[in-house]
Formats: sequence, C-alpha cells, structure tokens
Amino acid sequence: MELNPFEVAKKQIDIVAKEMGLDPNITRYLKSIERALIVSVPIMMDDGSLQIFEGFRVQHSTIRGPGKGGIRFAPNVNLDEVSALATWMTWKCSLLKLPLGGAKGGVCVNPRELSNKELEKLTRRYTSEIINIIGPDIDIPAPDVNTNAQIMAWIMDTYSMNKGRAVPGVVTGKPIEIGGSVGRNSATGRGLYFVIEAMCEKLNIKLESQTIIVQGFGNVGGWIANLLYDRGCKILAVSDISSGIYYKEGLDIDKLLEWVRKGKYLKDYKDERYSLVSNKDLLITECDILIPAALENQITKENADEIKCKIVLEGANGPTTPEADKILFIKGIQVIPDILANSGGVCVSYFEYVQDIRAYFWDLERINKELKRIIIEAFEEVYKIHKSRDINLRTAAYIIAVQRIATAIKFRGIFP
Ligand code: NAD
Repeated sequence: MELNPFEVAKKQIDIVAKEMGLDPNITRYLKSIERALIVSVPIMMDDGSLQIFEGFRVQHSTIRGPGKGGIRFAPNVNLDEVSALATWMTWKCSLLKLPLGGAKGGVCVNPRELSNKELEKLTRRYTSEIINIIGPDIDIPAPDVNTNAQIMAWIMDTYSMNKGRAVPGVVTGKPIEIGGSVGRNSATGRGLYFVIEAMCEKLNIKLESQTIIVQGFGNVGGWIANLLYDRGCKILAVSDISSGIYYKEGLDIDKLLEWVRKGKYLKDYKDERYSLVSNKDLLITECDILIPAALENQITKENADEIKCKIVLEGANGPTTPEADKILFIKGIQVIPDILANSGGVCVSYFEYVQDIRAYFWDLERINKELKRIIIEAFEEVYKIHKSRDINLRTAAYIIAVQRIATAIKFRGIFP
C-alpha cells in the first residue's frame, strides 16, 4: 500500500507531542499547513501539442522566518507529498536555529521526457504561477529531486524580469555567476559526512573501516558516496532509479560518478566484476552504514526487519516510516534522522541567502567551517537528549525542533 507522506509527517508530530507533553492546541496547529497553492502549468510542447502539468507550492510554517524549501520535478508529486516535505523543512530549519520556516514545491512531471526548451518553459511558467507567494522575504525555493542550478537560474531570471531588477535572493542553489554560493552543490553530502563522522566518534568506531550502501546516486547520494570513498570506506552498492550496482570488494565511485554525470543510468554501466541488484534488495543487503538518499517511504514495516546495518543515515527526506522506526530501534539500529542528517543543504542555502542579501561572498573554507559548526552543534544537542531520555535520535531531534517552534508561537501569539 502507498503510504501518504503527510500522514507520516503528522504521525511524527503526534509521537513527539506525546513524548514532550505538548499543548494539544499547539499540536493541532503544527499538524496543519499555513498556505498551499495548486497551479496549472500549460506548456506548448515542441510537437505543437499543449500539455498541462500540475504544480504546487506549500508553506507549512513561517513562524520563525520566510519559507525555505526545494522544488522537485517528478511524476508522482502531489499535494500530500509536498505538504510533508514542507513540514519536514520547518523542523530542519528550527533544529539548526536558522531564521527560516518550512516550505516546498513541485511539479508533477517526468523531466526526462521533456526537451531542454520545454523544461525551461515549464520552469518559467511554474515560477510565474507562484510568483506572488515567493520572494526573498516570503519564501525562497532551492533544488530538490530532478532540479538543479540551471533550473534555479531560470526561476531567478523569471522573478527578476517581473521585478525589473536582479533579485538573486529569491532562490538558492543558483550558479555561482549569478549569486550562488560556493559549497552549496556539495553541502547536503558534506553535512551527512560531518554527522556520520561525529556519530562514529560517539560509537567508538572507525569511519574508514565501515562498509556503505547508498540508495540514490544524484546530488545527495553522489556527494556522500564520494566523500566516504575518499575517506577510505568501501562502498558496496549504489543505485539510481534504473537499478542498483554491487561489488563486495567496493565500487570505483569516481568512475561511476563520471558515468551518471553524463546523464547515463547505472544499469548500463559495464564492469564484469559488478552485479546488478534491485533497489528493493539493495536496502536489505548487509553493510555497516545504509544511506537512503532517493525518496521517501523506502524503509517501511514491510522490510525494516530485514535491514542488516548498524546505522541508517537518512540522506533523503522521509525515507523511514514511523512503524519502521520502531522496528529498527528494537533491533538496535541507529537511525540518524533526515531533519538532522541532510540539513547541510538548507544550512548552506541559508548562507547563500545571507550572502545575496549582503552582496558579500564567502570562500569555501568559511562555508564548510560554518556548516560544520552549526550541524555539529545540532548533532550534540540531539545526541544528549537521545542519551538522557533513552529515545531514538528522531524523537530527540523533533523535541528540540518542535519546542523551538512552540516557543515562537507562544511569543508571537495567535493572530488576531
Ligand atoms: P537528485 O535528483 O539529484 O537524485 C535522486 C536520485 O535518486 C537519482 O539517482 C535518481 O535516479 C534516484 N531515484 C529517483 N527515484 C528513485 C526510485 N524510485 N528508486 C530509487 N532511486 C530513485 O535528487 P537529490 O537532490 O539528490 O535528492 C535526493 C533526496 O534527498 C530527496 O529525498 C531530497 O528531498 C533529499 N534532499 C535533497 C537535498 C539537496 O540539497 N538536493 C537536501 C536535503 C534533502
């Protein structure tokens, strides 16, 4: 059965509300989204036909600042998925103490089926449709699944043309030449790396001797695989939407990255030592650290019992359901939750936004240093609560994030 991600997101709020004894009024408030816009995106295709795509932008909470969150282009995008992703962004920004709220957007489309011209038209028309609810002071999009720096550049240009001046602060994850930040492209992977390094230290294990499996070999999965490979870890398997690829002695990640960055699928990669493995089997293959970095709802009550790793490091948003969380906790598998593990992306997006507004840019050393400081501070805070209350890391992270939002609501009050 297809799990509804927004139901999962609401269930996670219930779990933490119970654990922290949260005011039921606040709980109800946090389980609702602030604003959602559904738009039609008509595109005149290259063959002369008109196609209509459905698009969304959701702001879950702007209590602590403007909305922040990616835009995804994928065939199954729907309002519930985007609402869940917006909700998770609220917690992520709060956990990192960023002065931003939670938002997300998406268009229901398979971008691989569009020409480059059609993709540009789709991006620009979608931007025009949501233009009144985005902006540097309102809601700042960023890349997510199947969107990238070029797409952010088209959004920035469309918004700027409407304003009659360049407004780089309207999106993050842009090319550096138009106000992007160094280190943003690798930021989510680098954040995952800092967090897993800190976790290994707590558990007294050597990161470089761990075996790794990564599901999803795009921006997030590709970068974390790359960083762990350079550290000396054996990467047993990686996957994309076409297939997984496995080698028990460890894959050559540099070569595989070169392959996928040419737009090719892993299933077509040729090396007789490697075998193909399905995405389903990849998740239950034995390893030390499993990194789901593709989509939500990958570790569920159907397969959680078969997971054979020590640590799950959540690169994707929402890859583990609450039922699976319980099973993994009983099995003694540590799950480093998405709102902490993959928060490096939004952290450096925040740096990009600050740099755009101040029109003063930092170097890579400063970006990575500040990223490490912020993410490790959050990690230590989460770890402390996890230990002192004997609860899983997700609930610990949620307690901090939700408490911060609840306090902000108390100070601001309910209008009018
Ligand atoms: P991406 O488009 O760069 O890569 C996605 C990867 O997942 C690709 O390899 C794709 O082939 C694979 N994939 C897609 N559908 C799949 C399926 N059904 N089964 C297996 N693999 C599949 O996207 P990304 O930016 O790397 O995002 C991946 C995840 O990380 C998403 O959950 C996203 O929300 C989350 N995330 C991204 C960022 C960021 O900065 N890009 C930040 C935080 C979280």
